Amino acid sequence: MNAAAPAQSFAGRQALRVLIIDDEPVDRERCVRFIKQIPGVDSNVIGVETIAEADQQLRLGRFDCVITDYHLSDETGLDFAAKHHDDGDPPIILLTGNGSETVVLEALRTGVADYLIKSSLTANGLQRAIQNAVEKSDLRDSVRARNETIARANQTLQKRSNEIQRFYHTVSHELKTPLTAAREFISLVVDGVAGDINDQQREFLVHAVDCCDQLAMHFNDLVETARFETGKLQLQRRPGRIEKVVLRAVFSVSAQANDRGVTLLHHLPPELPDVYMDDGRILQVVANLLTNAIKFTEPGGRIELTVTRADADHVQVSVQDSGCGIEPEHLDHIFERLYQVPRAEEHATGGGLGLGLCIAKEIVELHGNRLQVTSKRGQGSTFYFSVPVAHPHLPNPEETFQ
Ligand code: ADP
Repeated sequence: MNAAAPAQSFAGRQALRVLIIDDEPVDRERCVRFIKQIPGVDSNVIGVETIAEADQQLRLGRFDCVITDYHLSDETGLDFAAKHHDDGDPPIILLTGNGSETVVLEALRTGVADYLIKSSLTANGLQRAIQNAVEKSDLRDSVRARNETIARANQTLQKRSNEIQRFYHTVSHELKTPLTAAREFISLVVDGVAGDINDQQREFLVHAVDCCDQLAMHFNDLVETARFETGKLQLQRRPGRIEKVVLRAVFSVSAQANDRGVTLLHHLPPELPDVYMDDGRILQVVANLLTNAIKFTEPGGRIELTVTRADADHVQVSVQDSGCGIEPEHLDHIFERLYQVPRAEEHATGGGLGLGLCIAKEIVELHGNRLQVTSKRGQGSTFYFSVPVAHPHLPNPEETFQ
């Protein structure tokens, strides 16, 4: 018994449908013969004499390839190619009488897949040209299909990203408004506006106000994260004094440090240049690093904020603590959204959402630098970043590119 012959294919096809446009019956028949000789392929070749008939055939069904003569009774082969070079149209091979340069150039410009000179046409040459044209066209189709898939995925992502942004805004607005109101009413009671309260009641209500503030901060973090993830976090940079920002940050957390029983020190060199920054945002970064340092340092510990001139173009801010430190395997992840180092201790997360460092990193990067950390478990951590010096007579980095 004979073993079945392996199925052959031609340009990835077992069946090939070709349209030939030529008003010379002999030439047409020759092309049909050459195509029928392709081994292992079921060829279906249709021959027509005019472009009008060819247009009709294309309307009726799909072809893998079209071969057209240049001179035809109604139009030229190039006119035909010009009408049929859209996505999904079959590749076109032009047969020219003499290979004149003008025709060839025009043919390539029109987008024909190949051209062959009629007088020297061979079976091999025609088959190779068809194979190349079909393979190239398939490749183009698959690239197009992939691009369409990517474009669709992109659209979906864009839509989701807008939805997330809207969701964060709605949540933030809907929750923050009543939260702010609740905080104000509690504050009124604390201030005695609604009558006398005893010390214990005051203590509880002050705690309630703190909780409202903490919640408001978390909402802000969520909205900020959504903002930079959708590319909407923008800086307002101008030359400013880093000392002022650092001192404001220290002031804003000093009560917290005090309550926690940690010493907070700061070191500022006497002369610092102006830096080019969004001072509100840099304040946010420094305050976040200090808050973390306080959260993750045990009572009796020490935090030092140091500002130095790193080099001619940068001022560096570092926050060093003597706290619990971070294991090496977590160091790369702490800047990721929502990442918190898993800890066994009580109050291990310090009540955060795991967004602060991610936002801080983004802000420092928008200033053209990196937020970095060195740390050892049990030996404290140092977070540091640089801000660019504002050179009065030079354009600042992004102004150069505008
Ligand atoms: P959050 O503090 O709100 O949890 P962050 O993004 O600011 O979020 O920090 C992410 C995590 O990095 C923290 O949960 C903590 O595990 C770790 N971390 C940050 N700062 C320090 C620090 N100074 N010392 C020890 N761990 C820290």
